[in-house]
Amino acid sequence: MEITADRVVLIHYTLKDDAGAVLDSSAGGKPLAYIQGHGNLVPGLEKALEGKQDGDSLAVSLPPAEGYGIHDPALIQRVPKRSLQGAGELKKGMQFQARTDDGMRLFTVTAIVADMVTLDGNHPLADKTLNFDVQVVSVREATTEELEHGHVHGAGGHHH
Ligand code: ZN
Repeated sequence: MEITADRVVLIHYTLKDDAGAVLDSSAGGKPLAYIQGHGNLVPGLEKALEGKQDGDSLAVSLPPAEGYGIHDPALIQRVPKRSLQGAGELKKGMQFQARTDDGMRLFTVTAIVADMVTLDGNHPLADKTLNFDVQVVSVREATTEELEHGHVHGAGGHHH
């Protein structure tokens, strides 16, 4: 079955940077399950998978704009520690989701100086070229419930 909008796709993938270092991989674990056409993958990868079928393998190299974006200095901000109550003990490198004007965004604590915390809302892989090796494991129609929830149920997805 062909990959097109509203179909559930299971893929195995390995993501490498330009130096060949593995940044992320599903190898040895469960395949990643997602619904095509819902922005669940980085834009360039979803585009590359459109029209592929079960059993297909592909290698794609995505510039940052098609991956996790270009580093944006405006997403770096300094806030007082007290504004982050509820985040637990703050440590450099810790990450948490916070609501912004553009929806939920992942922030990384990049520095703590006295009472001020520096938060970086850029994705850790911003500015990186993403080299994906992907194998399409299976393709099926999404159920109405999956489309309502916006995520996959069952194998590789949510259980609830
Ligand atoms: Zn659900």
